[in-house]
Amino acid sequence: MSETPASTRSDAPTKRVPQVRPATEGWTQKKDAEGRPLLQFASPRRGKPPVHLADLTPDERVQKVKELGLPGFRAKQLATHYFTHYTSDPANMTDLPAAQRDELVAGMLPPLLTEVRRLETDRGDTIKFLWRLHDGALVESVLMRYPGRITLCVSSQAGCGMNCPFCATGQAGLTRNMSTAEIIEQIVRANRLIADGGLGGKKADDHSMERGSNIVFMGMGEPLANYKRVMDAVRIMVAPQPDGLGMSARGITVSTVGLVPAIHKLADENIPVTFALSLHAPDDQLRDELIPVNSRWKVDEALDAAREYFEKTGRRVSIEYALIKDMNDHAWRADLLAEKLNARGRGWVHVNPIPLNPTPGSIWTASEKAVQDEFVRRLNDAGIPTTLRDTRGKEIDGACGQLVATTEDEAAAAAMA
Ligand code: SF4
Repeated sequence: MSETPASTRSDAPTKRVPQVRPATEGWTQKKDAEGRPLLQFASPRRGKPPVHLADLTPDERVQKVKELGLPGFRAKQLATHYFTHYTSDPANMTDLPAAQRDELVAGMLPPLLTEVRRLETDRGDTIKFLWRLHDGALVESVLMRYPGRITLCVSSQAGCGMNCPFCATGQAGLTRNMSTAEIIEQIVRANRLIADGGLGGKKADDHSMERGSNIVFMGMGEPLANYKRVMDAVRIMVAPQPDGLGMSARGITVSTVGLVPAIHKLADENIPVTFALSLHAPDDQLRDELIPVNSRWKVDEALDAAREYFEKTGRRVSIEYALIKDMNDHAWRADLLAEKLNARGRGWVHVNPIPLNPTPGSIWTASEKAVQDEFVRRLNDAGIPTTLRDTRGKEIDGACGQLVATTEDEAAAAAMA
């Protein structure tokens, strides 16, 4: 499909709209020998986190408990405590013999995340956690209460190797992949807090039946670059309790900047998670700069893979599009996006434009309200369901692309170590 520049499209605006190019002050993007932005797919080698019950299949859990010299049925009791009551505290496990409790917990539920900091906003309805992993790496998750649902945004890697110039996480590079259990532990810890009444909302007497209903892989990291562990975590999320968390796959969103071979793999998993493609530009010229992975897999390849995901799973795909003033918010880009989506059929996709945080003086700032509305209108008029997304957590730097440990966070973590 050819891409028509604004000047030659029949509906192109007559006034000259500036084109701001992506660049980040004070940060030099790492490049490979051919001058392309460096992409880091492999995780650097670091000491592995301790093996945890959530890293193991139910059979492996029984095996491990037996290796600890205890009867295999204890594995199910431990899994019930962890996945149903969200606890790793031996004091709560009164159904286990007191003499074996500490040993069992130490062997099966080793500590994985140490809370370094917790920031709240939206009157307590949004909470950002900063966690320290066993090797000192820092990751974050953001918990958000909405009417009728509770969403947790989880990290899948410490840092990220995708080098996106607008993203604080990407600028720090990839520290390492997170383990399956480290991903799951973010959910279990959030569920514990919710059950204890620690997440905003109306102060009911009893929150014990509440828990996270939606998980979005939009925290630190590119989830499909840590494919195996992310998918093992998804399997645990959807496994019935007490083997897993008993969640609905539809409430889990796996997002990617466009690792095409991994999107094909995901489509074949037979787990109907919601799939989100962070597109941010419909033309390769801009997307090559904005999302460096576009130098490997182009817009059309990513959209073809997204369409295939819909065909194989029947699940409508989300296209995420951060609207950045004068960079990617041009009306002709809305038209081009609609054209490309419609060329692949109807009813398979919806678009979520995400208003950026207004940052006066920065090239990374919010589109003007009228421009945002025009962008959304053009897509809707072309028959593409489009809704501006709420970006909660901006006040605490918890919105997507803003999750990064600051030096202050690192100092706090070091003080605790
Ligand atoms: S936007 Fe996503 S993929 Fe890009 S660097 Fe940030 S975390 Fe990684």
